[in-house]
Amino acid sequence: MNEKRGLLIGRMQPVHKGHISVIQETLKEVDELVIGIGSAEKSHTLSNPFTGGERILMLTKALREYNIDPSRYYILPLEDIACNSLWVGHVTMLTPPFCRVYSGNSLVQQLFQEENIPYTQPPLFNRTEYSGTEVRRRMLNNDNWEKLVPNSVIKVLKEINGIQRIQKLNQKEISELV
Ligand code: NAD
Repeated sequence: MNEKRGLLIGRMQPVHKGHISVIQETLKEVDELVIGIGSAEKSHTLSNPFTGGERILMLTKALREYNIDPSRYYILPLEDIACNSLWVGHVTMLTPPFCRVYSGNSLVQQLFQEENIPYTQPPLFNRTEYSGTEVRRRMLNNDNWEKLVPNSVIKVLKEINGIQRIQKLNQKEISELV
């Protein structure tokens, strides 16, 4: 029998505990999970501070920390494209075959539905705190962001000077201050 393979796409700026919960939950339903790191080409902005490669490193280490069997998932970078209407074809060209998409993002759901690929909306886990926006906001304010991400992600962020980076990106130019 064919394996049931799902697709989950996330920007993961940065990887947080909500991502790990949704991956754990989805792996109860599928044999294998293809995990696409979305907007892989974006980095060094306040909403997308980390590179695709850094996010792959965060997720690889985090899934290892949570003892998730590496034979059950594939992690790959997915660059954005300008045309939303062509995006599903772009994604399917780059990913191993899958039969269902797991996403809470309404644009992702809509685009796959239009191509007759079914989706599941996974349950939300502590969404007020486990959200990339909230983690980045706390990083800017040195406000207890560490508890929202796996320990292995804290380690990667130290290795890449991630907090220093996002805080630097937030600094105004001298000319804007006077
Ligand atoms: P995200 O990192 O915010 O979320 C990833 C997934 O995890 C989502 O399904 C989300 O619902 C889920 N999730 C996050 N926090 C959760 C929590 N606390 N509990 C449960 N689930 C949680 O990423 P995203 O914004 O959904 O990523 C979509 C990607 O697809 C983006 O990179 C976007 O650019 C890309 N995209 C590209 C195009 C294009 O290139 N034209 C079109 C559509 C989407």
